[in-house]
Amino acid sequence: KSFQELGVSKSILKTLGEIGFEEPTPIQEKAIPAIKSGKDVLGIAQTGTGKTAAYLMPIFGKLVKAEGVDPRVVILVPTRELSMQVGEDIEELLTYSNLRYASVYGGVGWTKHAELIEPGIDILVATPGRLWDLYRAGAVSFKKVKTLVIDEADRMLDMGFMPQIRNFLEVLPVKRQNLLFSATFPTKVEEMSYEFLDFPTRIEV
Ligand code: AMP
Repeated sequence: KSFQELGVSKSILKTLGEIGFEEPTPIQEKAIPAIKSGKDVLGIAQTGTGKTAAYLMPIFGKLVKAEGVDPRVVILVPTRELSMQVGEDIEELLTYSNLRYASVYGGVGWTKHAELIEPGIDILVATPGRLWDLYRAGAVSFKKVKTLVIDEADRMLDMGFMPQIRNFLEVLPVKRQNLLFSATFPTKVEEMSYEFLDFPTRIEV
Protein backbone atom coordinates (compact mmCIF):
# COMPACT_ATOMS: atom_id res chain seq x y z
CA LYS A 1 0.00 0.00 0.00
CA SER A 2 1.06 3.59 -0.60
CA PHE A 3 1.07 6.32 2.05
CA GLN A 4 -1.93 7.81 0.30
CA GLU A 5 -3.83 4.52 0.47
CA LEU A 6 -3.01 4.35 4.18
CA GLY A 7 -4.78 7.68 4.58
CA VAL A 8 -1.78 9.80 5.51
CA SER A 9 -2.80 13.48 5.52
CA LYS A 10 -2.12 15.77 2.57
CA SER A 11 0.39 18.02 4.32
CA ILE A 12 2.39 14.98 5.45
CA LEU A 13 2.27 13.45 1.95
CA LYS A 14 3.79 16.61 0.57
CA THR A 15 6.64 16.42 3.10
CA LEU A 16 7.21 12.70 2.46
CA GLY A 17 7.73 13.41 -1.23
CA GLU A 18 10.32 16.02 -0.41
CA ILE A 19 12.26 14.01 2.17
CA GLY A 20 12.26 10.93 -0.05
CA PHE A 21 10.07 8.47 1.86
CA GLU A 22 8.72 6.70 -1.23
CA GLU A 23 6.80 3.89 0.34
CA PRO A 24 5.78 2.79 3.82
CA THR A 25 8.05 0.41 5.71
CA PRO A 26 6.40 -2.83 6.98
CA ILE A 27 5.84 -1.41 10.48
CA GLN A 28 4.26 1.69 8.96
CA GLU A 29 1.96 -0.34 6.75
CA LYS A 30 0.70 -2.24 9.79
CA ALA A 31 0.76 0.47 12.45
CA ILE A 32 -0.88 3.34 10.56
CA PRO A 33 -4.31 1.65 10.10
CA ALA A 34 -4.20 0.19 13.63
CA ILE A 35 -3.47 3.57 15.21
CA LYS A 36 -6.07 5.32 13.05
CA SER A 37 -8.70 2.84 14.26
CA GLY A 38 -8.32 4.26 17.76
CA LYS A 39 -7.39 0.98 19.42
CA ASP A 40 -4.41 0.53 21.72
CA VAL A 41 -1.36 -0.77 19.87
CA LEU A 42 1.58 -2.89 20.96
CA GLY A 43 4.39 -2.57 18.43
CA ILE A 44 7.48 -4.75 18.52
CA ALA A 45 9.97 -3.03 16.27
CA GLN A 46 13.58 -2.02 16.47
CA THR A 47 15.17 1.30 15.70
CA GLY A 48 15.79 1.60 11.97
CA THR A 49 12.46 0.07 10.95
CA GLY A 50 10.72 3.45 10.63
CA LYS A 51 8.77 2.98 13.88
CA THR A 52 8.93 6.63 14.86
CA ALA A 53 7.21 7.84 11.69
CA ALA A 54 4.85 4.85 12.03
CA TYR A 55 3.28 6.38 15.13
CA LEU A 56 3.85 10.04 14.27
CA MET A 57 2.01 10.04 10.93
CA PRO A 58 -1.37 8.74 12.18
CA ILE A 59 -1.11 10.91 15.32
CA PHE A 60 -0.67 14.02 13.19
CA GLY A 61 -3.73 12.99 11.18
CA LYS A 62 -5.84 12.88 14.35
CA LEU A 63 -4.66 16.23 15.69
CA VAL A 64 -5.51 18.03 12.43
CA LYS A 65 -4.42 21.50 13.54
CA ALA A 66 -2.96 23.47 16.44
CA GLU A 67 -5.52 23.80 19.21
CA GLY A 68 -5.53 25.15 22.77
CA VAL A 69 -2.61 25.28 25.17
CA ASP A 70 -2.37 21.83 26.75
CA PRO A 71 -0.72 18.89 24.94
CA ARG A 72 -3.08 16.32 23.40
CA VAL A 73 -0.31 13.81 22.77
CA VAL A 74 2.51 12.78 25.11
CA ILE A 75 5.39 10.68 23.80
CA LEU A 76 7.46 9.15 26.60
CA VAL A 77 11.04 8.18 25.75
CA PRO A 78 13.84 6.78 27.92
CA THR A 79 16.70 9.12 27.04
CA ARG A 80 17.63 12.69 26.22
CA GLU A 81 19.05 11.53 22.87
CA LEU A 82 15.82 9.84 21.85
CA SER A 83 13.77 12.83 22.98
CA MET A 84 15.83 15.08 20.73
CA GLN A 85 15.72 12.55 17.86
CA VAL A 86 11.93 12.23 18.01
CA GLY A 87 11.75 16.03 18.16
CA GLU A 88 13.79 16.22 14.95
CA ASP A 89 11.59 13.64 13.24
CA ILE A 90 8.51 15.67 14.22
CA GLU A 91 10.08 18.89 12.99
CA GLU A 92 10.81 17.29 9.62
CA LEU A 93 7.37 15.72 9.16
CA LEU A 94 5.53 18.85 10.28
CA THR A 95 7.03 21.13 7.62
CA TYR A 96 3.57 21.90 6.15
CA SER A 97 1.59 21.81 9.34
CA ASN A 98 1.06 24.32 12.12
CA LEU A 99 1.05 21.68 14.88
CA ARG A 100 3.29 22.67 17.79
CA TYR A 101 5.58 20.38 19.75
CA ALA A 102 8.28 20.47 22.41
CA SER A 103 10.97 17.97 23.27
CA VAL A 104 12.11 17.93 26.92
CA TYR A 105 14.57 15.85 28.95
CA GLY A 106 16.62 15.92 32.13
CA GLY A 107 20.07 17.39 32.56
CA VAL A 108 19.15 21.00 31.83
CA GLY A 109 17.15 23.42 33.97
CA TRP A 110 13.41 22.74 33.79
CA THR A 111 12.46 26.44 33.63
CA LYS A 112 13.81 26.57 30.07
CA HIS A 113 11.48 23.71 29.15
CA ALA A 114 8.58 25.35 30.99
CA GLU A 115 9.08 28.40 28.76
CA LEU A 116 8.97 26.22 25.64
CA ILE A 117 5.64 24.76 26.67
CA GLU A 118 4.03 27.91 27.97
CA PRO A 119 2.73 29.41 24.71
CA GLY A 120 0.85 26.16 24.02
CA ILE A 121 1.76 22.85 22.35
CA ASP A 122 -0.04 19.94 20.73
CA ILE A 123 2.62 17.25 21.21
CA LEU A 124 5.04 16.81 24.10
CA VAL A 125 8.04 14.48 23.81
CA ALA A 126 9.58 13.83 27.23
CA THR A 127 11.68 11.63 29.44
CA PRO A 128 9.68 10.44 32.48
CA GLY A 129 11.60 12.37 35.16
CA ARG A 130 11.45 15.69 33.34
CA LEU A 131 7.78 15.22 32.53
CA TRP A 132 7.07 14.75 36.21
CA ASP A 133 9.21 17.81 37.21
CA LEU A 134 7.20 19.99 34.82
CA TYR A 135 3.89 18.62 36.06
CA ARG A 136 4.78 19.12 39.72
CA ALA A 137 5.86 22.68 38.99
CA GLY A 138 2.47 23.32 37.38
CA ALA A 139 4.14 24.02 34.03
CA VAL A 140 2.03 21.47 32.13
CA SER A 141 -1.44 20.02 32.39
CA PHE A 142 -2.39 16.56 31.12
CA LYS A 143 -6.13 17.04 31.11
CA LYS A 144 -6.33 17.20 27.30
CA VAL A 145 -4.17 14.14 26.61
CA LYS A 146 -5.91 11.73 24.23
CA THR A 147 -2.90 9.73 23.04
CA LEU A 148 0.02 8.34 25.03
CA VAL A 149 3.05 6.81 23.32
CA ILE A 150 5.60 4.84 25.30
CA ASP A 151 8.62 4.40 23.05
CA GLU A 152 11.46 1.92 23.72
CA ALA A 153 9.52 0.36 26.57
CA ASP A 154 12.22 -2.25 27.14
CA ARG A 155 14.79 0.47 27.80
CA MET A 156 12.33 2.32 30.03
CA LEU A 157 12.16 -0.78 32.22
CA ASP A 158 15.93 -1.32 32.19
CA MET A 159 16.44 2.26 33.30
CA GLY A 160 14.01 1.89 36.20
CA PHE A 161 11.36 4.32 34.98
CA MET A 162 8.32 2.23 35.94
CA PRO A 163 7.51 4.22 39.14
CA GLN A 164 7.55 7.54 37.26
CA ILE A 165 5.45 6.12 34.43
CA ARG A 166 2.90 4.80 36.92
CA ASN A 167 2.72 8.20 38.66
CA PHE A 168 2.15 9.86 35.33
CA LEU A 169 -0.59 7.43 34.25
CA GLU A 170 -2.47 8.24 37.46
CA VAL A 171 -2.92 11.84 36.36
CA LEU A 172 -3.84 11.14 32.72
CA PRO A 173 -7.44 11.14 31.52
CA VAL A 174 -8.78 7.57 31.65
CA LYS A 175 -10.23 7.71 28.17
CA ARG A 176 -7.24 7.75 25.83
CA GLN A 177 -5.38 5.71 23.23
CA ASN A 178 -2.15 4.01 24.33
CA LEU A 179 0.66 3.02 21.98
CA LEU A 180 3.57 1.01 23.33
CA PHE A 181 6.66 0.30 21.27
CA SER A 182 9.54 -1.95 22.23
CA ALA A 183 12.53 -3.35 20.38
CA THR A 184 12.35 -6.60 22.35
CA PHE A 185 9.52 -8.42 24.09
CA PRO A 186 10.75 -10.04 27.31
CA THR A 187 8.28 -11.07 30.03
CA LYS A 188 8.70 -7.71 31.78
CA VAL A 189 7.51 -5.81 28.71
CA GLU A 190 4.65 -8.27 28.28
CA GLU A 191 3.56 -7.54 31.86
CA MET A 192 3.86 -3.82 31.19
CA SER A 193 1.63 -4.19 28.14
CA TYR A 194 -1.04 -5.95 30.24
CA GLU A 195 -0.87 -3.15 32.77
CA PHE A 196 -0.99 -0.23 30.35
CA LEU A 197 -2.86 -1.41 27.25
CA ASP A 198 -6.51 -2.26 26.73
CA PHE A 199 -6.99 -5.17 24.28
CA PRO A 200 -4.16 -3.96 22.05
CA THR A 201 -3.60 -4.74 18.40
CA ARG A 202 -0.21 -6.43 18.34
CA ILE A 203 2.15 -5.60 15.52
CA GLU A 204 5.50 -7.17 14.93
CA VAL A 205 8.11 -6.74 12.21
P1 AMP B 1 13.35 4.77 13.16
O1 AMP B 1 13.10 3.30 13.08
O2 AMP B 1 12.12 5.52 13.56
O3 AMP B 1 14.53 5.11 14.02
O4 AMP B 1 13.68 5.32 11.69
C1 AMP B 1 14.85 4.94 10.99
C2 AMP B 1 15.14 5.86 9.81
O5 AMP B 1 14.32 5.53 8.70
C3 AMP B 1 14.93 7.33 10.07
O6 AMP B 1 16.10 8.01 9.66
C4 AMP B 1 13.77 7.72 9.20
O7 AMP B 1 13.92 9.03 8.71
C5 AMP B 1 13.82 6.71 8.09
N1 AMP B 1 12.49 6.35 7.53
C6 AMP B 1 11.33 6.17 8.22
N2 AMP B 1 10.34 5.80 7.41
C7 AMP B 1 10.85 5.76 6.15
C8 AMP B 1 10.28 5.45 4.86
N3 AMP B 1 9.01 5.10 4.72
N4 AMP B 1 11.11 5.51 3.78
C9 AMP B 1 12.41 5.85 3.95
N5 AMP B 1 12.99 6.16 5.12
C10 AMP B 1 12.23 6.11 6.22
